[in-house]
Amino acid sequence: MILHIDMDAFYAAIEQRDNPDVAGKCVIVGGLSGRGVVSAASYEARAFGIHSAMPIFKARQMCPHGIFVRPRMDRYKAVSKKIMSLLEEFSPQIEPVSIDEAYMDISGCERLHGKLRQLAVNIKETIKKTVNLTCSMGIGPNKFIAKIASDMNKPDGLTIIMPDQTARFLENLPIHKVPGVGETKRRQLENMGITTLGNVKTYPENVIVKKFGKFGLRLLKLSAGIDETPVVSQSRHKSVSAEETLQKDTDNKKVLNNYILKHAETVARQLRKMEVRAKTVTLKIKHSDFRIVTRRVTLPNPIQSSKSIYNAAAKLLTDYNIRLKIRLIGVGASHLVSDTVPVQMDMFEYLKNKHRNWEDVDKVVDSIGKKFGKDVIKRGTLGDPGQSND
Ligand SMILES: [Mg+2]
Repeated sequence: MILHIDMDAFYAAIEQRDNPDVAGKCVIVGGLSGRGVVSAASYEARAFGIHSAMPIFKARQMCPHGIFVRPRMDRYKAVSKKIMSLLEEFSPQIEPVSIDEAYMDISGCERLHGKLRQLAVNIKETIKKTVNLTCSMGIGPNKFIAKIASDMNKPDGLTIIMPDQTARFLENLPIHKVPGVGETKRRQLENMGITTLGNVKTYPENVIVKKFGKFGLRLLKLSAGIDETPVVSQSRHKSVSAEETLQKDTDNKKVLNNYILKHAETVARQLRKMEVRAKTVTLKIKHSDFRIVTRRVTLPNPIQSSKSIYNAAAKLLTDYNIRLKIRLIGVGASHLVSDTVPVQMDMFEYLKNKHRNWEDVDKVVDSIGKKFGKDVIKRGTLGDPGQSND
C-alpha cells in the first residue's frame, strides 16, 4: 500500500501560521510584479476563485481585499525539511516529489483499513503538533490511486482506497483527474465518449494505443488498476559522518585508530537507524597546520557494520603517509543505498556472511545500548586494521 501526502495550501498556510494577523484571511502568495503569478492561495482566497498559476493582476481584481505576499522560499524549504524528517520516522521508504508532497511505501503495514487509518491519523497528528499545519492524505494499492485519493477531501482530508474498492473507484474517476490528461487530451477523449477512466475499457486496446501511443498504453493499464511505479526513496541525508578534534595533535597511528573506531561505531549506528548501507567510506584528516586531506574508498558491496566501516577507514589511514601531526580525524559514509535492497552477490560470499555476522553484533549492541545507555558496551578492539577490507 502507498500513502500520498500533500500539504494543504502549503505556502499560504505557512504565512497564516507565522502571522496571526492574516490567519483566516485571503492570503495570496506570489510574484507581486506586473507579470507575477499566484504560487499559492489560502482556502479563504480559493473561495473567490483564486488558484495557483493565475496572473496576480487577475487575482487582485477578483479578491481586492486579499493579502498579497511575496514567497519566502527559504522558510518553506525549512518547514518542508522538517516535515520530511517527521515522515521518515514512520517509514524510511519516503519519496519526496515536491516541496509539499511525498509518497510513502507502507506495504509492510497491515492491510487492514482500521490500521491504515490509524497510521494516517498518527502522521497527521504528528505534523499538526510539530509544525502546526494540516495535510491531506490518500492511501491506495499504488501511487496513482494514492495521489488521486489525497486530492479528494482537501483540506485536512484522508481517503483510503482498499484493493477491493479499486475497480469501482477507477471506473468512475473523471478522466481529467488522470495525470497527463490536459485540456487537449481531455477534449480528444471526451469526443470519443470517454469521460471516466472506466470508459477507456469500452474501446479495443489497439484503438486506444493507435490514437494515444505510449500514453494510451498507460491509460489502459491505469484503467485496469495497474501502476507499477515504485516509491523511490533517496535518503535525504546523502552522507553520514563523525569527526572530532583530538585532545593533542598526534601522528601515532594507534591513537588515531582508536578515534577511527569510535567514529566508525557512530557512523554505523546512524546508518542502521536510517536503514541504509554505504558504498563509500571517507577518512578526513586535518593537520596541525589546518590543512585538510580526505581519502575515500568505494567498496564493491554496500556496508553497514562498524567493523567494515572501521576496516575501510583504518586501511585509508594505513595507506596515508603522515608527514605532519594530525589535529582532527573524521570518518564518513556516503553513496547510501536502502537497506532493503538486497546486497549484490559476489564471489566473496563468505565475506558477505562475515559482514552479516558483524551486523548482528551491532544490532545487539544497539539494543543493549537502547536499554542501558550507549556507553555501557565498549568494544575492545576490532582487530588488526589494514589487513583486509572485510
Ligand atoms: Mg499541496
